Amino acid sequence: MGLISDVEIGAVSLDRFVPVLGPERVATTLGIAASVREKLHGGAVWNVNSTAVGGGVAEMLPPLLAYARGMQIDARWVVIHGEHDFFVLTKRVHHALHGSVGEGGPPHEVDRALYEATCTANASELALRLGPGDVVILHDPQTAGMAPHLIDRGARVIWRCHIGADVRTPEVDQGWAFLRPYLERVPVLVFSRREYVPRDLDGPRVRIIQPSIDAFSPKNEDMDVDVVRAILAHVGVLSGPCPDRASPVYTRRDGSPARVERVADIVRAGPAPDVDVPLVVQVSRWDPLKDMHGVMCGFAKLIASGRAGDSALVLAGPNVHAVADDPEGPRVYHDVLDGWYKLPPSARARITLAMLPTADVDENAAIVNALQRHGEIVVQKSLHEGFGLTVTEAMWKSRTVIATRTGGIQDQIVQGESGIMIDDALDLDAFANALAGLVSDPDRRRRMGAAARARATEHFLGIRHLLDYAAVIDEMLS
Ligand code: UDP
Repeated sequence: MGLISDVEIGAVSLDRFVPVLGPERVATTLGIAASVREKLHGGAVWNVNSTAVGGGVAEMLPPLLAYARGMQIDARWVVIHGEHDFFVLTKRVHHALHGSVGEGGPPHEVDRALYEATCTANASELALRLGPGDVVILHDPQTAGMAPHLIDRGARVIWRCHIGADVRTPEVDQGWAFLRPYLERVPVLVFSRREYVPRDLDGPRVRIIQPSIDAFSPKNEDMDVDVVRAILAHVGVLSGPCPDRASPVYTRRDGSPARVERVADIVRAGPAPDVDVPLVVQVSRWDPLKDMHGVMCGFAKLIASGRAGDSALVLAGPNVHAVADDPEGPRVYHDVLDGWYKLPPSARARITLAMLPTADVDENAAIVNALQRHGEIVVQKSLHEGFGLTVTEAMWKSRTVIATRTGGIQDQIVQGESGIMIDDALDLDAFANALAGLVSDPDRRRRMGAAARARATEHFLGIRHLLDYAAVIDEMLS
């Protein structure tokens, strides 16, 4: 068995954007794609990352690559393989670049041997499959160490970093000190925000590209209220009388209709709120930086202060036993669960933890879609955030968002207009106050939701993202 595995991608036409954004933007994108295609001379554009499921990168690649393939660009996606120890190490690098201290602390010189062995093995295998002039986009720290090897084999390499910290700390410096040697000869470095570019890497090879969501995926496609309720009741997130409970239908990424099956492996702590209870929702990986525990404590404060109205909180994430590249998941989930058991019964009765099934990516996405749409308020109270696709997803769904003023969330929300940002994630009173203000004001929620939708449509859909990538590759090949 080989180390790298291919992820299958479809081909989709950009025409579906015409009704959303108008014909001009579509025509511009097709024009630049044609130029890229010509300059590639039949070569491929490879994308390399560490997982096909879970997290922002795995979320963004399928639609972008499908649109690229729809424009006859040979876009491909491969996932590297590593042992558990490798992903524990790359998680430490990830935390360091976020400026936080994860388990094991920032990476050290002694960690290089493990990192390089895995990267080199994966790169050697990929190199065997590269054609002359192929472009390779390496995503995130897990793959940066592949760059020197691939460049030696003649590949044109772009390193795409999806994470970063607003503030330089010793941990951030240590993270970059670890990665720097692998990036020295990489001709193009792409970051999500200018603030994330380390000073000594900044220069002409740096490009800024903001992430995006796919408006037409199972995660973001329009969904009738009845379908939303039916899906959530069907899988056991909600309870109570519910329309069409037996057959909630969503659209898979290949365009075919599918039914959400009764899912045996959903894991829930706490009650399934009634379909008519207004929900506050955070959907995230079980990662310490997402601060699920803090969301739970802030909501418990809201309840204790008597300002929660009849609202309930759902904290949802993937099944921690099923996501390969997130070794901290089980511990984080169980910490939140421990905290949940310590809450007073009155709070436990209105706070639900849910591990969503991940075996079928599209079905997981449909459940997330339903949950985000059903949430009156969508929260992303991260301690740090690279960009925060969950925020974009909620904005696209016209939800009112309360999120931390961190990372790319600041580029998405216009404070007080298209959402609310909390300055300090650890300030649970500020969080509870923001919730209280919105729980009691449906008009304000509707206004903010509409502004959020307009902003997401203009700036954060896949077509803008694709155009940015096409421009970078076009320039690289010129
Ligand atoms: N997500 C999901 N299922 C889950 C939890 C999260 O599909 O159970 C998705 C979420 O909808 C979003 C992505 O994972 O599309 C997370 O991206 P984000 O940028 O918010 O954070 P990251 O996980 O990359 O740090």
